[in-house]
Amino acid sequence: MGTYAVTGSASGMGLQAAERLRELGHTVVGVDVTSGDVVADLSTPQGRRAAADGVLAACGGVLDGAVLAAGLGPGSGADRNRLIAEVNFLGVVELLDALRPALAAADRAKVVVIASNSTTTVPVVPRRTIRALLARDTDKAVRSLRLLGRNGSAIMYAASKIAVSRWLRINAVTAAWAGAGIRLNALAPGAILTPLLEAQLADPREGRAVRSFPVPIGGYGDAGHLADWICFMLSDSADFLCGSVVFVDGGSDAFFRPRDWPKSVPVRRLPQYLWRFARGVRHG
Ligand code: NAD
Repeated sequence: MGTYAVTGSASGMGLQAAERLRELGHTVVGVDVTSGDVVADLSTPQGRRAAADGVLAACGGVLDGAVLAAGLGPGSGADRNRLIAEVNFLGVVELLDALRPALAAADRAKVVVIASNSTTTVPVVPRRTIRALLARDTDKAVRSLRLLGRNGSAIMYAASKIAVSRWLRINAVTAAWAGAGIRLNALAPGAILTPLLEAQLADPREGRAVRSFPVPIGGYGDAGHLADWICFMLSDSADFLCGSVVFVDGGSDAFFRPRDWPKSVPVRRLPQYLWRFARGVRHG
């Protein structure tokens, strides 16, 4: 049986994943701002440090896996964009950086980051916002959306999930992660009925947008089903899964982007492709 850190363990998918893992006999170190084994605010650098220290102390320096489910949806409030950037992006990458040695100390550790299908279904997310997030400059990311006003939070949300998915795919294959036996993967859910979605449905404007969003299979996803996906992605059956973003969204991504992926390497990217091919995987 393993030891797993789960952020966002007080509600929704994080809560369900923590419960499932405990039912399977694993030890869970739950992290959340409201309640949990480690109570920490992932929207601040001190909170992220406290979360990492709390998990490392609880797991004794060896962690079999982590589920990064803490997150904020689009919403109102003057500080919302900054909070989304801090929790959804830095709350994942800074925490994983700090937990990496403990994950490397385990045998075949696995990480599941909860991204979102907003990565591919929200249009025209500015590249500069994503770049600023990847550079860990949340002030710059917030400034990049200042002209959008109230609509900015949906764009910041999508940007935070694109940035975290990119960070994951860039790092998953490197010596520090794959080379240390750590499998980094993401789930990209569509609309899942959790308190986060309920808050969106309760807002007249956002609720209308959520209800009218095309979902080929219909309805909303079930948080318990997503917890099953998470547990599967943490299991031995996922040993060969690395750098994948798994969409569980009722078909919305396929509906909007049927021909965008999978796609062959375009001619302009051939030099880079061939260079990587020739260089091969180097894990030290
Ligand atoms: P939720 O609101 O039920 O749970 C999120 C949890 O994160 C809560 O327990 C909350 O307290 C915690 N959290 C928020 N801010 C925090 C902070 N500053 N520090 C520590 N913890 C904090 O939401 P959910 O729907 O279960 O969402 C889980 C993840 O899935 C999020 O990353 C969300 O963006 C993502 N997601 C959700 C949906 C959906 O439709 N529900 C769809 C796609 C992606």
